Amino acid sequence: MALGEFALIERYFRAAGASRSDVPIGVGDDGAILRPPPGFDLVAVSDTLVEGVHFPQGAAPRSIGHRALAVNLSDIAAMGATPAWALLSLTLPTVDEPWLAEFSAGFGVLACEHEVALVGGDTTRGPLTLGVQVLGFVPQGEGLRRSGGRPGDLLCVSGTPGDAAAGLALLQRASARPAVPSAEVSSSTLSAPLATLQQRFEYPTPRLALGARLRTLASAGIDVSDGLYGDATKLAAASGCAVHIEPQRLPCSAALTAAVAAGVFTAAEAMAFVCAGGDDYELLFTMPPAAIPALQADIDRGDVTIIGALASGAGLWLLEQGVAQPATAAGFDHFG
Ligand code: ADP
Ligand code: MG
Repeated sequence: MALGEFALIERYFRAAGASRSDVPIGVGDDGAILRPPPGFDLVAVSDTLVEGVHFPQGAAPRSIGHRALAVNLSDIAAMGATPAWALLSLTLPTVDEPWLAEFSAGFGVLACEHEVALVGGDTTRGPLTLGVQVLGFVPQGEGLRRSGGRPGDLLCVSGTPGDAAAGLALLQRASARPAVPSAEVSSSTLSAPLATLQQRFEYPTPRLALGARLRTLASAGIDVSDGLYGDATKLAAASGCAVHIEPQRLPCSAALTAAVAAGVFTAAEAMAFVCAGGDDYELLFTMPPAAIPALQADIDRGDVTIIGALASGAGLWLLEQGVAQPATAAGFDHFG
């Protein structure tokens, strides 16, 4: 590589994250030496982004850096854990310094925001691929699992799922017709909601503060990476329950509502984004009804919405006018 692997790591990655006192040896040796605090369990997660699969070709490098870390921090949040250390396996087709500077800034800003140190990694040449591992802590025995849900627990979701899938659809439309300025985006009343949706795909917010609070409130948790209905089905299966969802309770953001009102998406497309879009990295969790007061302020702000409940049995059921109809996540997977 033109710049040389050593110089590249020094310039763009040695100081990309937070510095922490529990890292006796970080980037630069054959391995990192890390010092976990006594009384905590270590939580390890790994997620890989491949160009053309997990983000569009030519995506903004700052967004790629942010997402590569954010998707891992979201898994840490879903375990109720606090992140500490990250490793980055970078496969690059060429050494493009402006690209690396932006990528490293996207990764580094989010890492610093959550006090995550970049303690090592690997750098190779090949098709653009970002592999990230994150390690975090949770008080011993308190990690949040998918399997703790019980019949009667309420099903809740953070934020407004569907926005990221809508944002990705907008990005794909823009790259499919690059020369034609989109009437939608150039209209001044609509540009703000569409920019918001795009932002939700490019810069997802890992729900770490909520995840840590859920350790003592929730019975089970999962992050929404593959679509709300699919991930709800996974949580229910792990808990040995059926999951009942009331579609009319699903939250829809002001931005997505505005995009539908303006005809950018049909109502059916918006519903598919909400039910089956991935990439939101919101938290989906169950809790006994007794936990509602502890989350009432979040519910009132719209940061958490009760969308259904676990029941005895198995599978996904949609409650329409009080009647439960069997459903499958695949029926809503318009992107599969
Ligand atoms: P080795 O050949 O012994 O595996 P490398 O030359 O690949 O070592 O890496 C040197 C150091 O740089 C190691 O500490 C490694 O963890 C770190 N490193 C390599 N690539 C990255 C990267 N993309 N981000 C952060 N650290 C990296
Ligand atoms: Mg070595």
